[in-house]
Amino acid sequence: MNKGQSMHAIAAILHEPNTDFSIEPIELDAPTSGQVMVKISAVGVCHTDLIFATGKMGTPFPVILGHEGAGRIASVGPDVEGLSVGDKVLLTFENCGDCPNCASHDPAYCHNYRPLNFSCLDAQGCTPAHSEGGTDIAARFFGQSSFASHANVNARNVIKLPADADEALLSPLGCGVQTGAGAVMRSLRAKAGSSITVIGGGAVGLSAVMAAKIVGCSPIILVEPNKVRRDLAKELGATHAIDPMASDAAEDIHKISPGGVQYVLDTSGNLGAIESGVKMMAPKAMFGFIGIPTDRLSPLPVSIGPMIGAGYTFKGIMAGDSDPQTFLPELVYLVTSGKMPLEKLVTYYPFDQINDAIKDSHSGGCIKAVLRFDTK
Ligand SMILES: [Zn+2]
Ligand SMILES: [Zn+2]
Repeated sequence: MNKGQSMHAIAAILHEPNTDFSIEPIELDAPTSGQVMVKISAVGVCHTDLIFATGKMGTPFPVILGHEGAGRIASVGPDVEGLSVGDKVLLTFENCGDCPNCASHDPAYCHNYRPLNFSCLDAQGCTPAHSEGGTDIAARFFGQSSFASHANVNARNVIKLPADADEALLSPLGCGVQTGAGAVMRSLRAKAGSSITVIGGGAVGLSAVMAAKIVGCSPIILVEPNKVRRDLAKELGATHAIDPMASDAAEDIHKISPGGVQYVLDTSGNLGAIESGVKMMAPKAMFGFIGIPTDRLSPLPVSIGPMIGAGYTFKGIMAGDSDPQTFLPELVYLVTSGKMPLEKLVTYYPFDQINDAIKDSHSGGCIKAVLRFDTK
């Protein structure tokens, strides 16, 4: 492909909110300065894809979603160093690289995070993807839009993988796993021997459980109504798994860990579960928020006096406070060395079965759906 030319690709396009994805040919512009084009091998389905598919986040349509892509570099744009055609790579969220938080290796709190990751367009309001008829298709979701055979990505949002890496298995590291594991290892900095409760046993919550085991937390308690997920959590290292529909979860926690737990991590966004989670906190405990409630403007269910008296810390968590260039290689090592058995969370689907994968993700029929281009 010559510089400046567009190329043929295919993508799962969402034309309207809450409709099926339609797999169609597209034209993708050549990568611009600082970008590489990645031929996507596999892409995870994340809860955030489902939220943006509702149209409630101001998503422009038609749009290409997908933000847990992995693949091989197909072409390298101008001004890119250290990446070559054929390199296996993992894609992650976009950041500006210039603001104070990016400069201090804290890109999850990039001052420009929202427009870069959520507008689905570049700073000029442009998109690199077009239909064969010439209609623009928004394709900068999380700086990648990887529900497609190819995606243009900034080089700083690409992590090079070892040549023998299983990029399909590793694809969820770029968002869901990075968020759950990073929350425990980086945001809360949970210590060995400390007690932790994780609320919600989806891919993010179970990644947090795996990380808590690696860190050496004990007890590790999952609160989750789905029995399959509770059982899996125990296999992954949870010492206890509580059904909040069967009993009062906060009371159960105090029986397991008298006085409460040192860390509570909510991945559910359920206000009742969050309120119960606050009652689980021991003096000086930290509460980490990952799950966003349906009403994202909901206030904290906390009284200020008791909070001061107990020395509580409440922390919002984006992307597990990750610096992907250093943290993702750590996670790659943990998965490939068998310390983080990510394969137990993953169900693979051929890319053209994306609507089944989305349906199963909604219904809880799978924990982490990964779409693959290389299977039928
Ligand atoms: Zn995500
Ligand atoms: Zn920034």
